Amino acid sequence: MTEIKLDRLERRIEFCPAFDCIVNPCKWGKDTCKPGEGGSHGRGGVDMTWFLIGKDLAIQFVVATGWELPETYPDLEKKGFLTTDRFSMYPMASYIGYHSRTPLYEGASPMNECQFFGECYYDGSSLNADKGLEILLREGSDAVWVWMKEYFVTRADQQREFGGTDATD
Ligand SMILES: [Zn+2]
Repeated sequence: MTEIKLDRLERRIEFCPAFDCIVNPCKWGKDTCKPGEGGSHGRGGVDMTWFLIGKDLAIQFVVATGWELPETYPDLEKKGFLTTDRFSMYPMASYIGYHSRTPLYEGASPMNECQFFGECYYDGSSLNADKGLEILLREGSDAVWVWMKEYFVTRADQQREFGGTDATD
């Protein structure tokens, strides 16, 4: 197994803002975004994304925090959702995935517009992400980075086996 030191990798956390196209005007200014209709963006809470970035490989872990805009809560309360659907307010692990400069398996097809590598090979899983949220809630960020590094090492090994370059050099 590859030896990779955590401090050789870049760590970054980004928060993608919440939005509410039901209470507020459409955030993106779309005429088709009307509450209760098919084209509505609806509403969404803050997404927290963790990145662990090497030279040819980056790991991405996303948590839906359940943090809504302040004006969203009164509307939810008025409609009775805070009591009947309160679980949607809980944090949820969305997915953990990798971006790789080179393919990790036979037949992998590249996707464009990767923020790290331009063209990249990407895959992710929602199943494996639950563990990360559990670690975040019970142990905090240091433990999350260690967990993500294990994932990084697994993918870096795959990458090398498949003829890619060193993920950290
Ligand atoms: Zn909208």
